[in-house]
Amino acid sequence: MKELLMGNEAAALGALAAGVQVAAGYPGTPSTEVLETLAGRSTGGLHAEWSVNEKAAMEVAAGASYAGARTLVTMKQVGLNVASDPLMCVNYVGIKGGMVVYVADDPGPISSQTEQDTRRFAAYAKVPVFDCTSPEEAFEMIQEAYTYSEKYGTPVILRSTTRICHSCAVVDVPELTAPGRAEGFIKDSRRWVIFPRLSYENKKKLVAREKVLSDDFSSYGRNEIIGNGPYGIACGGVSFAYVKEAILGKEDLFTVFKVCTPYPFPESMARKFLSGVGKTAVFEELDPVIEDCLISLSGTLEHRMEIAGKRTESVPCAGELSAAAVGLALSEIFGTDTLIQPRSCEEQPPVPVRPPVLCAGCPHRASFYAVKKAAAGMKANFCGDIGCYTLGNAAPLDMVDTCLCMGAGVTAAQGIGHAEPDTVNFSFIGDSTFFASGITGVVNAVYNKADIILIVLDNSTTAMTGHQPHPGTGITLMGDVTETVSIEAVLKGIGVGFAETVDPLDLKKAVETVKRAIDQTGVRAVIFKSPCIAIVKHDKPLIINADQCIGCRKCIRELGCPAMSMDGKHAAIDTSLCTGCGLCRQVCPTGCIGKEEAR
Ligand code: SF4
Ligand code: SF4
Repeated sequence: MKELLMGNEAAALGALAAGVQVAAGYPGTPSTEVLETLAGRSTGGLHAEWSVNEKAAMEVAAGASYAGARTLVTMKQVGLNVASDPLMCVNYVGIKGGMVVYVADDPGPISSQTEQDTRRFAAYAKVPVFDCTSPEEAFEMIQEAYTYSEKYGTPVILRSTTRICHSCAVVDVPELTAPGRAEGFIKDSRRWVIFPRLSYENKKKLVAREKVLSDDFSSYGRNEIIGNGPYGIACGGVSFAYVKEAILGKEDLFTVFKVCTPYPFPESMARKFLSGVGKTAVFEELDPVIEDCLISLSGTLEHRMEIAGKRTESVPCAGELSAAAVGLALSEIFGTDTLIQPRSCEEQPPVPVRPPVLCAGCPHRASFYAVKKAAAGMKANFCGDIGCYTLGNAAPLDMVDTCLCMGAGVTAAQGIGHAEPDTVNFSFIGDSTFFASGITGVVNAVYNKADIILIVLDNSTTAMTGHQPHPGTGITLMGDVTETVSIEAVLKGIGVGFAETVDPLDLKKAVETVKRAIDQTGVRAVIFKSPCIAIVKHDKPLIINADQCIGCRKCIRELGCPAMSMDGKHAAIDTSLCTGCGLCRQVCPTGCIGKEEAR
């Protein structure tokens, strides 16, 4: 049946069509919808889970694959760093059931710390990588990836990028049926136990396999040489779509080399391509991976090849590409008439302005404010982490001094404290991030006698990626009720003496609790527990009694709630945004903020 699918949905349904039996991942934009679609569309025979982090997900999948199951692991590009420990070993050990690692890269970056390129990581890990150019191809390619995975006994990566993950296309999806049972784990310690001698032997096999796979990929149907014009274009991923649009109507001028397997690079096909063109332009987002392969290859050719791309500054080295950017580069490189005029958007309404601030009523605002009040006048540092609460850096809160990677706020605060013992060091971490990679940092702090105050911002969900459940929510990805892991109990269990849970919207109590934590030494923790406003029913909005408002602006100056603004001499609340959280009422010196019926 034909369905309109996002790239991530297409990949998920492709995996179901391939008979995936175990799927695990950690949410991260732009990859999140793959696992959610798998869980929602499975007809049975599938175990799908949000693992606590990508490392756990990779290891769960590896075990299932050892037992013969087809497995899928999903993550965003920086998640691959977390999963790299098992990946850099399972590549040596190999697998039995096909194992596909779906990694979504984020050119821009739009919602990530960095522009890391998974194709480079794949070559580093010696793991074959498939690079889809459209949602339709994601559906087909993931099925082919399982075949290659099992043919070569290796995990393979299916790499996608934001514009493919989140753009839609019509895909013909067959009726999905539940897969059968896996063969089961067959004990063989000489195969599954990664002793140094085994790795030595398997390293030789990995290196030898590169050449075999390169040849195999030279006849892989999705790697193509299209056309026979004098000007060469090499491209991969979504850039292939941009190239098609940029050369529309002028295809005769170009020979296009579409690269869907950047590692191992299909060298013999690339030689054939290079032999037919005089000069080549390379279009790819993120790193110059295809470009470097072609430059390297051209050094072995008899005739000199000119290759224009990121290395020659002919193509932007950072950010996303577009059809217009490709058209412009082609016209500059080849002098072709390929400029694409921007389309008029006059008829479209203006996009509403939404500055990057915490939502109106977000409990994190109250948590940051309580800490700010409690630490006022102190030489304090505030180490943040990855989540919507990174937005606590915005004025007027200004409560995020550092943000590095998942879990780093806990450990960076320790480092600053060791280097500068006369400071008070706070670490802010969300509940999902705490489970993903915060716990080990707290153990490190307890063991190494750090002096930090851990502030857990527990909003009972993984908010930033779309409200996925986690071990603290008591619900699994498949919707089953499960054991709820208590953050306070975990902290006390690993030796944190002061660990108290408090509602941040009770401002007086919240400030008083943080002050008591400051008065102690060692590792102390305050868990601010209040659900995300996107998952709880809102209270009635508050209003301001203009007669009593003295226009002091304290509410606006100190909180920065987007529902508040000045209306002439008085403050005003936008009742379409206000959730009635009550924080501003606790800050106002005149008591002029309240519920409508109380006026
Ligand atoms: S009660 Fe005040 S602080 Fe809370 S959402 Fe409404 S305006 Fe913002
Ligand atoms: S803090 Fe109270 S008195 Fe001051 S501007 Fe806001 S609503 Fe008015």
